[in-house]
Amino acid sequence: MVGRPEAEARFPWLRAVDWPSVAARFPVRLLRDFLGDAASPRDPRVLTALPSSDELRDDPGDVPDPVGEQARSPLPWVVRKHDDRVLLLLTKRCHLYCRYCFRRDHVPGQGEDPTVAEWSAMLQYAKHSGARELILSGGDPLAVTDARLFSVIDAVRPEVPVIRVHTRAPITYPQRVTAALVDGLRARAPVWVLVHANHPVELTSPVRDALARLVDAGLPVLNQAVLLRGVNDSASTLAELCEALVELRVFPYYLHHPDAAPGNAAFRIPLADGWGIYQELRGKLSGIALPQYVIDPPDGSGKRPVSDML
Ligand code: SF4
Repeated sequence: MVGRPEAEARFPWLRAVDWPSVAARFPVRLLRDFLGDAASPRDPRVLTALPSSDELRDDPGDVPDPVGEQARSPLPWVVRKHDDRVLLLLTKRCHLYCRYCFRRDHVPGQGEDPTVAEWSAMLQYAKHSGARELILSGGDPLAVTDARLFSVIDAVRPEVPVIRVHTRAPITYPQRVTAALVDGLRARAPVWVLVHANHPVELTSPVRDALARLVDAGLPVLNQAVLLRGVNDSASTLAELCEALVELRVFPYYLHHPDAAPGNAAFRIPLADGWGIYQELRGKLSGIALPQYVIDPPDGSGKRPVSDML
């Protein structure tokens, strides 16, 4: 972990940021390995991890529930947008809080995890939901212990055959991908792992090794990137990311248009501009390297191809 004094010494411009006010609105957690050798204020790791005064700015485009989950939540920690899928939020905690993410809207130490009763209710709901796929999300579902994670999977089997673990931990905290975790997931196949890398600079040696451990165990690994202004909003950067992922045997599944979450206006990009970047990307990549460009609209209907929205 990197605390505020160390971060301000290393990134001097942070002293001009009202860190306490930002942290009171959105949690901040920094990891030394993720930041790596970043030194510039324009570095993708800096932009996506360090608190910024921009997060205190209300924007007319802000949508409090940007992907429409509240109306699709039959009980706490559960989201149901589709008959064949159910999503459980195992925790609100993450190893690192990405500054563009709509899920970083809680106060550390307060209501970050389901109560015992809520945990039991959500597992019962999932087990009897009739869904074919259980999506484990958060926060980061790998911010809970292996035992807790495995207990969820075991609780819904055999009724729910397919498990999806949606995690950024292999990218932000690759040490979390231990042999015990990999073995436990492999023993519970079919388990699909959906990771979240946004920029090729995130694919460090430890990250590559962590992804290889998952793939070598026979776990299908897919990537979801988010198109972010100033971070990866160029076809050449995205092509480099997708090509590297294919080499790592990770399928570049989705490129998400950014959600209009409060505090993330600086990362947003107009849909037409995103579509232009995507058109250029299509000309650069093979079919197995090209992600689908999707948007998750505030009406809660679930992800749709951006091409349907133009
Ligand atoms: S993108 Fe994932 S890891 Fe980052 S803050 Fe959101 S839920 Fe946490």
